[in-house]
Amino acid sequence: MTLAAILAEHTAKSVTPSARGVTRCDAGTVGAQRVTPATPVTPQKATPELSVRSVSDAVHLEQLPDVLKPLRAHLLALAAAEGIDAAHVHRLHDLDVAACIGLDARQLASYLSMLADTADRHGGRVPAGDTAPMHCERCGPAWIHPDIAGVLPVVDGWPRALGCPWCFVRKAGGYIPRPSARASA
Ligand SMILES: [Zn+2]
Repeated sequence: MTLAAILAEHTAKSVTPSARGVTRCDAGTVGAQRVTPATPVTPQKATPELSVRSVSDAVHLEQLPDVLKPLRAHLLALAAAEGIDAAHVHRLHDLDVAACIGLDARQLASYLSMLADTADRHGGRVPAGDTAPMHCERCGPAWIHPDIAGVLPVVDGWPRALGCPWCFVRKAGGYIPRPSARASA
């Protein structure tokens, strides 16, 4: 998975209470006047063409193997230090590793952490740090990191967003562990 796709997947799209109210009130009125809610940006996996182009800006393609080997080794060392499964690094395509060129150790560690979290979600497991309940417009109740829940608008006791990191799991037909309604009180 590319860095861009990971970031897109982990970005919760917020919906404000006022926007929701407007949408409800205007439902049924003239289409041209109707305020439609913002739709979440569909996370897209970067195309190989795009990745190659962006990489070629930073380094000549024929030099890539020389650059990627130490970078992959750096990622493996960081994964070991962070207690993250090395398999996440081994699974990375060369272009995914190339997308990490220029990132510092902190950013690389965040990337690895997000890869592990994404793998957890696709496996139906709640990532260890995702202890806050939220309500995704598409998925319903779901667990999310408290830092993200903290910046979402709260409606009816639930931090709410138009999309969440579990949307990928829902679209794939996977299992989503649910917080109970009481968890939000
Ligand atoms: Zn969702």
